[in-house]
Amino acid sequence: MSGKENTAPVIDDQKAEVISLTEDSRPQRVDQAREESCWSLDDFDVGRPLGKGKFGNVFISREKKTKRIIALKVLFKTQLLQLGVSHQLKREIEIQYHLRHPNILTLYGYFHDDKRVFVILDYASRGELFNVLQSQPGHKVNEVIAGRFVRQLANALHYCHSKGVIHRDIKPENLLLDSKLNLKLADFGWSVVADHSKRHTLCGTMDYLAPEMVSNQPHDFNVDIWAIGILLFEMLVGYAPFANQTGDKLIARIKECKIYIPSVVTDGAASLINAIIKKEPQERLPLVDIMAHPWIKEMKQREDIEVPLFISTLTKSSRNNSTANQ
Ligand code: AMP
Repeated sequence: MSGKENTAPVIDDQKAEVISLTEDSRPQRVDQAREESCWSLDDFDVGRPLGKGKFGNVFISREKKTKRIIALKVLFKTQLLQLGVSHQLKREIEIQYHLRHPNILTLYGYFHDDKRVFVILDYASRGELFNVLQSQPGHKVNEVIAGRFVRQLANALHYCHSKGVIHRDIKPENLLLDSKLNLKLADFGWSVVADHSKRHTLCGTMDYLAPEMVSNQPHDFNVDIWAIGILLFEMLVGYAPFANQTGDKLIARIKECKIYIPSVVTDGAASLINAIIKKEPQERLPLVDIMAHPWIKEMKQREDIEVPLFISTLTKSSRNNSTANQ
């Protein structure tokens, strides 16, 4: 797709040009309101930084016209070109723009000027699950909250997989949370639109890599399911099952697929972890069965009480942090 078109590209053409990082400096608008003129920075009140990523910064912003609060990701073209990641960004925008699901971070569109690319994203006010875990005693959450996140992530991935998209980089840093503690799957930089053959590229974060990926074997949708099992373990135990290992040792442990589940994990949760963490990709519990797992259902029944309690502890701790920082 050329930089001048106003709609985001179709998913199934991975080679499509989403934006031209070199030639065209005209801002673009890509959303439902196509009759309006192109977006530019003037359309937004840009507020405080929300965080710094690998390739740029993210700012809380408000679209002046609608007063809608969004997250504006700002990336420098020179940096994208230097690091050779423009293709990755194109793919990320291309894929995420077309995914519309309550548990996937909405990408509303993008525009660019001669120096920067701006990506307009839904605002997830509670930030990364990674930071939430870090803020909790023992770096873990109670099992009702863990069950909720697993259910919502399985739901998001079920939708992605139905569209042929494999995320391939599931980890707490790529899971954002909104004000109501809804999980939003983000960062599709490593994702891929699968054809029927299997993929070979090694990607993702070591702790969350499936055995077939560390063995350089072809992989498919089942790598995302594996990562759900690792995430559930980490949320309940406080560290990933293969953490504290590096290099060859880590790879060997993942290949062996031997995990020790501490006794703090209840039988219900352990049965779900064991059903997911399987060396053979085809033996991993399918996403629909994860969502229907008895432990997941049991946890869901307790959400009405536990979710508001958890939100209030998060609100208190962020208030304390901001007072301490004053
Ligand atoms: P990234 O460049 O995507 O890694 O984002 C950098 C940081 O900005 C993240 O670690 C988040 O803390 C924050 N962030 C990114 N996107 C959002 C969003 N949509 N809503 C709230 N915070 C975000």
